[in-house]
Amino acid sequence: MTATIISGKVLSEQIREEIAQDVAAFKGETGVTPCLAAVLVGDDPGSQVYVRNKQKACEKAGIASQLHRPSADISTEELLKLIDRLNHDPAVHGILVQSPPPKQIDERRILEAIDPMKDVDAFHPDNVGRIVQGRPRFMPCTPYGIQQMLLRNNIPIAGANVVVVGRSDIVGKPMAILLMQKGQGGDATVTVCHSRTRDLASVTRSADILIVAIGKAKFITADMVKPGAVVIDVGMNRLETGLVGDVDFEAVKEVAGQITPVPGGVGLLTVTMLLRNTLTAARLQQK
Ligand code: NAP
Repeated sequence: MTATIISGKVLSEQIREEIAQDVAAFKGETGVTPCLAAVLVGDDPGSQVYVRNKQKACEKAGIASQLHRPSADISTEELLKLIDRLNHDPAVHGILVQSPPPKQIDERRILEAIDPMKDVDAFHPDNVGRIVQGRPRFMPCTPYGIQQMLLRNNIPIAGANVVVVGRSDIVGKPMAILLMQKGQGGDATVTVCHSRTRDLASVTRSADILIVAIGKAKFITADMVKPGAVVIDVGMNRLETGLVGDVDFEAVKEVAGQITPVPGGVGLLTVTMLLRNTLTAARLQQK
């Protein structure tokens, strides 16, 4: 059996079109153009690509964007001043600080300084708490993109055994929270695995839906997947041969029922959900 490919490209184009229509309607009603301010510190090539992609996506959806590039040796205090300026700028609705910043930066202090109403990555504790309680202001971008992939491909979530491999604040933890919430897009039985999990393969083999976010190229092999399972690969590992996921795609696609590719999978949805959050932020700030 060869798995059906879940394309992030087709889905993200569809959702970006919906967002562009909503942005146009919002501009018509209010005369306001939603605006995302990206802060990129340092010269990490991967980060530069991500930020450029986010800006291009904004432009296509009718969202304005700003790029702030303080020098790589900026101090946390100086960066906090920039965040404060953006917090108070009425033309800016969403703020993102591209991760990872250089080592001298206290990332937690920076993320906590972003006005929760402009925190379109949903990393501020106020927004994380709201997500946990099931009353989100902004949805966490990557997990929300994955939830939309499952819902829009009619993959049953309620009652499914979901295994999330990885427990980061950005992907693993919020992913588990979304899928275990009561109601549509939730109601799954969720297990979270990490580097201390015993006999990982026996846990991953129990998954109807296996979501992998660990940052290790081709780590999940065919023997770790239940035949017919849905496999969602969040990993983005830059090798000399190109970008690969955390799943050994070629082998696992012969076992899985459905699988996301890398590239062309989850990553595109993450950027899409950032656009949705920027529009939501502009709406909230109009009220
Ligand atoms: P992260 O902060 O690097 O954390 C990695 C997680 O994987 C940790 O919880 C770690 O466990 C776990 N882990 C590491 N080795 C493991 C092993 N051998 N067995 C089981 N668990 C293991 O993760 P992240 O920021 O979520 O990133 C993960 C990957 O997703 C990266 O490739 C990243 O580039 C990618 N990513 C993609 C998108 C997208 O839009 N597609 C978005 C974000 C991230 P411990 O907690 O025990 O250390």
